[in-house]
Parts: sequence; C-alpha cells; structure tokens
Amino acid sequence: MNILIVDDKPANLLALRKILTKPGLNIIEASSGNEALALLLEHDFALILLDVQMPDMDGFEVAEIMRGNEETKNIPIIFVTAISKEQKYIFEGYDKGAVDYLFKPLDPDILQSKVNVFLELHGQKDALKKTNTDLKKANERILEQQEALIEEERLKVLLQMAGAKAQELNQPLSSLLEDIELMGRVDDNPEKTVECIKRMKVSGKKVSDIAKKINTMHYSDPIPLDYDGTAVVSFDREISILVVDDSEDVFEGFKAFLKDQDLITFSWAGNFNDSFAMLEQERFDLVFLDHILNEGTSIDYLRAVETEGIETPIIVVTGHGDEMLASKVIQMGAYDYLPKSRINSESLARVINNTLERYRLRNDVKRAQSKMAEMSTVDELTKLHNRRYFIDALEGEFERANRYDTEMALVILDLDNFKKINDTYGHPTGDKVLSCIGRILKQLVRRSDLACRYGGEEFAVVLPNVSKESIYTAYERFRETVSKQSFEHESKQFHVTVSIGIAFSNDAESSDDLLSHADQALYQAKESGRNRIVDYKADNKSGD
Ligand code: GH3
Ligand code: MG
Ligand code: MG
Repeated sequence: MNILIVDDKPANLLALRKILTKPGLNIIEASSGNEALALLLEHDFALILLDVQMPDMDGFEVAEIMRGNEETKNIPIIFVTAISKEQKYIFEGYDKGAVDYLFKPLDPDILQSKVNVFLELHGQKDALKKTNTDLKKANERILEQQEALIEEERLKVLLQMAGAKAQELNQPLSSLLEDIELMGRVDDNPEKTVECIKRMKVSGKKVSDIAKKINTMHYSDPIPLDYDGTAVVSFDREISILVVDDSEDVFEGFKAFLKDQDLITFSWAGNFNDSFAMLEQERFDLVFLDHILNEGTSIDYLRAVETEGIETPIIVVTGHGDEMLASKVIQMGAYDYLPKSRINSESLARVINNTLERYRLRNDVKRAQSKMAEMSTVDELTKLHNRRYFIDALEGEFERANRYDTEMALVILDLDNFKKINDTYGHPTGDKVLSCIGRILKQLVRRSDLACRYGGEEFAVVLPNVSKESIYTAYERFRETVSKQSFEHESKQFHVTVSIGIAFSNDAESSDDLLSHADQALYQAKESGRNRIVDYKADNKSGD
C-alpha cells in the first residue's frame, strides 16, 4: 500500500517516515505541492499526509486540485499543520476535503493510529473491489453456461426438424425411382409413359418444395459445446438425487444408468406431496422431475416449489423434445431439461455435474451480495450513511472534539406520527416520503457534517465545530421546509412534520452520553407537541 507524505522541510519528512515505517507500507515523499500532484497521478495512494504551509502552493490548494480530479478526488487527506488551532481555520480545511488533522509537533501514537484507520479503510475498499470482480466473473460463467444450454436445445430442435424433412423426402423420392423403373418397361406404350411423366412431375415438385423449406429454415453454425464425448465425469463427494416420477421403472432406469457412480445415491417420490415432504426433511443435491405427473405438469411443480421456497436444483425430464417447453421450464427456474431419448450414462453425469456447478455459482453470487450489503455504509433508500457507519463516526468525532477542545453537536430528527402516514397511504408512499426528507437533509448539511438514516423514520446528523446559534437557525429552517413540503398519494395531498432534538458535546462525558442527551431532547420535542426543536439543557436532566 502506498502513502504520500508532503512537506517542504526535509527534516519533517524524515520525522514522518521514522514514525510511519512499517512492513507492507510504501512511503513516498514529495517536497512541494507540484511534486505531490505529479506523484498522485503516477501511483495509487491509500492516504496523503499534507503539510498546510508550503512556499509555492499551499496544502489547501493541493487539496482543491485533488478534489477536482476524478483520479484523486477520493484519496483521504490528513492535513499536517503547525499553525493555530483556531476552529475557523480547521473548518476551512474540512471544506477543502480534509478527512482529518494532525498538529506539529507530531505525537507518534496519534499519527500511527490515525494513519492505520485510513489504511484499514483502504484495505476494505480493495476487498470490496475484489468481491465485485468475483461476482462479475461468476455471473459471466452462469451466462456462458446458459448460452451453451440454449445452443444445445436449438441443436436438438434442428436435428429433429432435419429428421422430419428426411422422412418427408423419402416418399416422393421412392415414387420417382419407381416411375423411372416403370418407364423403362413401358416405353412402347405412349399413354403409360405420359402417365409416368405426370407422376414424376408431381414427385419432383414435392422434392423441390421440401428443398425450399429446408433453405428457409433458420440455421447458423452451432457453437460447439465444451465437452468431448470421451471424458467420464466423476464426482468428488456424495451426491443425493431425488427422482420425482409416477413410474418407479423410470427411477430404476436412472439408477441403472449411474450404477458405476458409487458416490451417487437415489431416492424416489411418486407424487408432488411425497416429494415436497422429502425435500423438507432431507437434503438433496438435485431433483430429476418428470414432465407429466398425475397431479399436473412440471410447470405446476416448479410453481409450487417457488411458493414453498425450495431451492434444490431441478432438472425436468420429458418424453418428447420441445423447444418451447425447454425454455418455459428454464424460465420457471429449472436448471436443465433432458429428453428421455437422450438419457445415457454420460449425458446424465454431465447434466448432474453442470447443474451442481451452477448451483454452487449461484450460491457464491448470493454470498457475495450479502457480503457487500454487510460492508456497505450507505442506506439504500435515502443514500445517506447508515446507522453502523454513523455510530463509528459519532465516536470518532466526539473524541476529536475532546482532543482539540472544539464543540460538536448531534441532531436527531424523527418524523411525527409516521405510522399514520404508512397506514393511510401505504408503505411505498411512506418510503417516498423518507427518501424525499433524506434529500432535503442532504441539501442542508455542510460538507463536514455527517448525515445518516439512524432508524426507520429517524435521521441523525453529526456536526463537528458548530456554533449554537447557527445550528438552531439551520435546523429551524429544515423543520419549516419539511412542514411546507407537500406530498401526493393518488392525487390526495398531505404533509409531514418532524421533531428535532439537539445536544452538544460540551455537556457530555462520552459519545453514548451525547446520543442519550439528543434522544432526551427529541423526547421532549415529541412530548411538548411535535413539529419543533428542543435542545438538551444540562441543568434540566430530569426531562421536565
Ligand atoms: P412519533 O411522532 O411518536 O414518532 O410517531 P410515529 O408513528 O412516527 O412513531 P412510531 O415509532 O410509532 O412508528 C414509526 C413508524 O415508521 C413505524 C413504521 O411503520 C414506519 N417506518 C419505519 N421504517 C420505515 C420504512 O423504511 N419505510 C416506511 N414506509 N415506513 C417505515
Ligand atoms: Mg416518528
Ligand atoms: Mg421513531
């Protein structure tokens, strides 16, 4: 991982390097803003430590240029400065895109711990990127296999059509041959010869019609399947298969075809209900399903499987090849389709192998998706930060405020009687309201503030470096904007209001304390009539 340190004084660079050096970390130095910008475009950096006061271009200018460039705009910047700790100055730095501050002389412990936080974050981002690529690859493989499957189906149909055409050609061709022979025998009888010629014309026309039909058949070169007929598929673990078929003979047939595969065990269910019970009680790797059963077709079965939430892969087996049916059952969630006429030891082993592999891939994709959701720091509905991210940030900001002796605030906002909005207009409309409130909030907050969706209909904002008056005015404006915003449901207009609780870090011992203060203030806002702001008063703890 690369980290860029920028300072015009070699002694400072040396000091930084001494503290930061550790295995796996590549420290790159720049002694001016220009040099830093050039290096930023050359390497991939997890973090930049940026001196504020430099002769040719100061740290703020470098930050501004970085934020304006697609490649560099997301690299975290920690400003390193010796100048005054005056709040206003720090605030300007945050506006320029700083994620943190360090003051000279550097405290090695603070420096190391801050840098570690950002390096870890970078590591997580890389992991997420990798999950994304894995996901893409898995999807591509599934797609390829689906394509191969469809190609195979198409080929089956073409072969059947070709077979049918050959059958059709047979009749006029043999009649032609017969007439040719007959003509040889009746060449002294002009009447019979004329009759022969007539019949030959009819046969010839039939042949030419069929040839025309063949020419207009859609045909493109099939893509060869990635399979050489000689390979024997073998399995590396025990596989249990359920055959759902009203005939036990078919089941015995399956067993016979795969008798050499020691690792496969077969079970049989003769009807829908038995099979559902078995699938619930035991773990099966896949199901071979007959297309026509007493209770209905494979389509009905697949529908029932979906309702029951059964995820075992299903392969539909049928007596006659039919492209429509194949694509229908696959659309309905079957993994594959197998005409009885094409069943043999190899095709069965191959279809089983292919299905198990696809099932595994599908699960991989699901796992990757839930992993991504877990790592996410964004709320899907409002695109604000989510609660998990918020709790971490609140703690960090509280500590920072304490350390630098600045004041921060926490604002908690809760929609009033929102349950009634849902009950009256429905949940989807409720969701739209929530995302709209999220948008209004996003417009209000400053760049250094952190807005999040704290709960269902609760939002929270962490505000580093605040003045009490300005925060009160800003959130009063927000309260008013929300109350004036009109929403619509089936051309009925309605409004929502919001109650707001504010607490300041100077009154709190810990971030938990701060959160509880803001909650108490919100509670008071609700109690005293909603649609208002209450700020927590330290001398009023009892809540009256
Ligand atoms: P109060 O003024 O006391 O806050 O009343 P309230 O009805 O807003 O509060 P309560 O906590 O009783 O109900 C909150 C409701 O918010 C319950 C739930 O229907 C709704 N809600 C929570 N999360 C969501 C969501 O993601 N979407 C929608 N549409 N509604 C949600
Ligand atoms: Mg509410
Ligand atoms: Mg609530």
